Amino acid sequence: SMASPALLMRVVASAYSAAEKAATIVRSVMAAGDLGIVEKTGANDLQTKADRLVQMSICASLARKFPKVTIIGEEELSTDEVTEELIEDGHCEEILQKTCPAQYTGIKEEELVIWVDPLDGTKEYTEGLLDHVTVLIGIAYGGKAIAGVINQPYYNYEAGAGAVLGRTIWGVLGIGAFGFQLTEAPAGKHIIVTTRSHSSTLVNECISALNPDSVIRVGGAGNKIIQLIEGKASAYVFASPGCKKWDTCAPEAILHAVGGKITDIHGNSFQYNKEVKHMNSAGVLATLRNYDYYASRIPNNVKQSLVP
Ligand code: AMP
Ligand code: MG
Ligand code: MG
Repeated sequence: SMASPALLMRVVASAYSAAEKAATIVRSVMAAGDLGIVEKTGANDLQTKADRLVQMSICASLARKFPKVTIIGEEELSTDEVTEELIEDGHCEEILQKTCPAQYTGIKEEELVIWVDPLDGTKEYTEGLLDHVTVLIGIAYGGKAIAGVINQPYYNYEAGAGAVLGRTIWGVLGIGAFGFQLTEAPAGKHIIVTTRSHSSTLVNECISALNPDSVIRVGGAGNKIIQLIEGKASAYVFASPGCKKWDTCAPEAILHAVGGKITDIHGNSFQYNKEVKHMNSAGVLATLRNYDYYASRIPNNVKQSLVP
């Protein structure tokens, strides 16, 4: 008989279904109209009912199947009776059919850390910029982001009736990334994608130094990685603290799975072991191609302002 699939592939397959369930929650909270907005650190750091319900859904669903895996979610929630209707017990069969890369076949539950951003782009969600929103489930082993799922609940929402709403992108290092069409950004152009709602003088000063042909300002770390892998932008540049490990883990795995690169503004790679500091204090620099062009042009004073 067939050997049972490797743990990593079972986790990714379950995360895929948990992210699809999450997307239905994100859409139904918006459709019901009561977002239940709470300010966390301030007016640009929000939590909605969707952030809360989705985190409970994803964390409880994955914890039930993989009790020894460490799961770290963005939201601090009062400990939670999770209602049974929030539990997703399905998995994506297509993912289970893929061969686990040899270096990951021996991974044990205790060795995995799952970083969950239940709703990335909350500010934009509350403002109706719905396709900026993603659900992020990143999977780390040995401190590295090795697999990830990005669900975009409102993909296609402006395409009108007949278009399928929402999509799920997933990837594993050594296998690749799926659920989208990998596209190169226009050759010879420097198209920068950056924050829309967390800008600063330093953020803008850094972008100017990169000689941009254009600047796209959109919400969400997940959304900005999608801009890179679909050829809409050539670099994601954010010279500021603010992004956390749950913002970058799933995007990093998917970007790296297709040959891109993401670091802080100094060029340091991110670590995702369970003890790590959550804040990416030294910002984000990510590209699908030509990482060195952008890295070499980050001004020294910008670097000096951002301590890792
Ligand atoms: P943005 O590009 O502004 O959408 O930010 C990407 C991710 O980092 C989102 O999850 C934001 O909530 C988070 N983030 C970035 N800057 C800040 C900040 N100044 N305060 C709180 N969260 C931030
Ligand atoms: Mg986020
Ligand atoms: Mg979030």
